[in-house]
Amino acid sequence: MKNLFGEKSQKKAFLGMTALVSAASIIFNSCNSKTDVKEFEKITSHEHPTVETVPKIKIDDESVETDKRIIYLTFDDGPNQGTENLLKILNKRNVCATAFLVGKHAYGSKRQKDDLDLLRNNPLIELANHSFTHAHNKYTDFYKNADAVVHDFDIAKDSLKLYDKIARTPGRNIWRLNNIDVTDIKSSAEAANGLKKAGYKVIGWDLEWRPSQKMTLKGSHEAMIKKVDSIFLNDLEKTSRHLVFLTHDQYLRDADSINELDMFIEKLQKSNKFVFRKISQYPKINEILN
Ligand SMILES: [Zn+2]
Repeated sequence: MKNLFGEKSQKKAFLGMTALVSAASIIFNSCNSKTDVKEFEKITSHEHPTVETVPKIKIDDESVETDKRIIYLTFDDGPNQGTENLLKILNKRNVCATAFLVGKHAYGSKRQKDDLDLLRNNPLIELANHSFTHAHNKYTDFYKNADAVVHDFDIAKDSLKLYDKIARTPGRNIWRLNNIDVTDIKSSAEAANGLKKAGYKVIGWDLEWRPSQKMTLKGSHEAMIKKVDSIFLNDLEKTSRHLVFLTHDQYLRDADSINELDMFIEKLQKSNKFVFRKISQYPKINEILN
């Protein structure tokens, strides 16, 4: 029995270290939710007072150091070609992101179904709604019928088993939050209003990494980092100090694109100017819509 207790306390000490390491990594990658922070504080304040020197990044806007900017990495149209490469990059960089999923893509192939499970089971990833049909890529027709648009998002929500109603419109940079109302192509406004009325928080993007003609990432990570800096410098983001970044899983099929996105994230992290969050932490997104 002595051995057993000895083993147990050793194991407990090991688990304590594991909890510390993982709590610290949560703090450093800044993907923390409120409960993660509480858990971290509990561990640091009661069990391991010596680690109180670890800098704490709090998630409330007011308490983020004022020199930090917040980036929301978002990836559209998954599960798709490139999804597994995306996950490798995010895992390697230990950075959180949001996947705006297309419902029907989960039924495209066995691999896409499996990739949906990989996305769902990865704690770095948050899932959000990018419609069921992706408008069949016929956007003008799609947005003519507001009720059908809402229905399409409802079908995606149910089939993907999404818990909240954060949505992004296919082919349109539309925003419908309590404090942001933006429609890039006005003929889509009624459908966007319908989504808001149905309780969807519609979120667009501030910066897109667009594709080349070969559907790979266009341009270099250095150029994208300049764009990030420029948006903040010129105050072009929808919410001050918060930038929603968009690209697509399917641009991550070649080695160059994979490397460019990886370098982009690495350099943003190493600059120490930014923190990364999931889209459900965007300011005011959890307010009940009025
Ligand atoms: Zn899309």
